[in-house]
Amino acid sequence: MSSNVVWHSHPVDQQTRAAQKSQEPLVIWFTGLSASGKSTIAGALEQILTRQGYHTYLLDGDNVRHGLCKDLGFSDDDRKENIRRVGEVAKLAADAGLIVLTAFISPFRSDRRIVRDMLPQSQFVEVFVDTSLKVCQQRDPKGLYEKAGRGEIKQFTGIDSPYETPEAAEVRLEGGTQSVAESVNQLLEYLHNSNVLKAGYEPISINA
Ligand code: ADP
Repeated sequence: MSSNVVWHSHPVDQQTRAAQKSQEPLVIWFTGLSASGKSTIAGALEQILTRQGYHTYLLDGDNVRHGLCKDLGFSDDDRKENIRRVGEVAKLAADAGLIVLTAFISPFRSDRRIVRDMLPQSQFVEVFVDTSLKVCQQRDPKGLYEKAGRGEIKQFTGIDSPYETPEAAEVRLEGGTQSVAESVNQLLEYLHNSNVLKAGYEPISINA
């Protein structure tokens, strides 16, 4: 970055934008293997939050690779750059006062740490969707594990590229055994107890 680029502070800041939305800005960072349930759970949580009047934005791993990150592949360096960019976008969206949900494998601890360090401590929640590789392989909704097993996809997380388990995620979901509704309720409870959600939230129906 050039030393001539100077940060400009504007009169409308994060606090003003968030206050207008009557909410606390936050990044809810889902991490876990492919098919662990990140997108499904994040999407279900976003739907509930939206219904309850919160202003949200979901950044999905597959979707950003169609645009913002379409020049990136799956080498370690590209994965790192992918997460750095998405972290910056999540930070911008939180600066806009939003509750941001992200669904990225984000396999490396150091990359997740970089994003965590971009934000105030109270505005970053790491959610580990802890679903075993075996269950993910059985689900295989996009047939990716099958392709990776045949060697048609290289550097696939869990197969020939590592997944570094979070050591201190704020929330751990047992993605292989609990239902989507149970995971969403666990998250709503966590957010409620952290004072992110206003009083009066109701758990969603377990069959939702
Ligand atoms: P990821 O975003 O982690 O790659 P997805 O949400 O895209 O995972 O895919 C997970 C798949 O597993 C979906 O097809 C979803 O319907 C299915 N699934 C089955 N049971 C669950 C569960 N309990 N929690 C989350 N996903 C589940």
